Amino acid sequence: MEECIFCKIAQDKIDSEKIYENENTVSFLDINPRAPGHSLVIPKKHVKNLINLDDEIVSELFKVTKKVEKLLKSSIEPDAFTIGINEGEEAGQEISHLHVNIIPRFKRDGGGPVQSVVKNPPKKEISKIGKMIRESLKINKTHSK
Ligand code: 5GP
Ligand code: ZN
Repeated sequence: MEECIFCKIAQDKIDSEKIYENENTVSFLDINPRAPGHSLVIPKKHVKNLINLDDEIVSELFKVTKKVEKLLKSSIEPDAFTIGINEGEEAGQEISHLHVNIIPRFKRDGGGPVQSVVKNPPKKEISKIGKMIRESLKINKTHSK
């Protein structure tokens, strides 16, 4: 993926404010921070979303997210954190390289909880939705046998 800006950051082809790096992941400050210390954690391998990331790297990505959170807690000293992934264009993903946002939060910073990014409550009762999801799990299990 020659064009991808986050691949270029991972490969040190363009500058970034890196704050942590290991074999498979890297963390750097967001260029357009929503809060002081707003950081991104990415796998070095180009994948668009979690589903396409190998399980071992998924766990590493979240271990590094925890490390960076601790690092920001001790340096920036926020009151809280919002941690999230925009997955897919409809969810606001502009850079198609998976990235975890770690956003330090402060008292009266004007932000809301992650649930405030969408207001689209379902028409069906959640018991029906739960049943539908469990049914699809059964179907998927049968198909993967
Ligand atoms: P998305 O909307 O794809 O979830 O978020 C992309 C994030 O990457 C945005 O917060 C944006 O500010 C950040 N970003 C985009 N380009 C660059 C860049 O070249 N360097 C850095 N450090 N951050 C970037
Ligand atoms: Zn990439």
